[in-house]
Amino acid sequence: MDLYSGYINRLISELSVLPGIGSKSAQRLAFHIINMPKEQVEKLAGAMTEARENIRYCNVCFTLTDREVCPICSDASRNQKQIMVVENTRDMTAYEKTHKYNGVYHVLHGAINPSLGIGPADIKLTELIKRLERDVDEVIIATNSSIEGETTAMYISKLIKPTGIKVTRIASGVPVGGELEYIDEVTLSRALDARVEL
Ligand code: ZN
Repeated sequence: MDLYSGYINRLISELSVLPGIGSKSAQRLAFHIINMPKEQVEKLAGAMTEARENIRYCNVCFTLTDREVCPICSDASRNQKQIMVVENTRDMTAYEKTHKYNGVYHVLHGAINPSLGIGPADIKLTELIKRLERDVDEVIIATNSSIEGETTAMYISKLIKPTGIKVTRIASGVPVGGELEYIDEVTLSRALDARVEL
């Protein structure tokens, strides 16, 4: 016998597909939503739909944006010849918050992870190599210091080295296994300053 109405069950099952939301949290959220004022629920649902409809990848760096070319890539005051490679848009935001970096980015949308079947073709690597056909001075690899992040960094450096473009890796001020987005700004800018050439 179903304990709840079909509507509630459906809401719980939709919520439980979100990352970090187990079945208990999904239930808690579902009941919270049901008790919210109707207008607030409409606002929430509307924000989700609108964000999904209007957000796209930047044509240049592949970060999430609502424009064809994101504000960073279209900013003439930034050094377009220095490209920092990050795993996702959240990591890019973390570096932006340090206000210490004036180059541009390349967002991979993931990292190489053989155990999950994620290979080089599944992240935005071809797109990165294509960008290097233009005038580039340095590629800074700022993937996470997890096994996947390190594997990806090694792979990228091997790929770029023959081109003669300088490849650097952010320093190990970033704790092993640490995810960039949770690291404080001082540590992040130190890791950038102390980057080493690969
Ligand atoms: Zn961009």
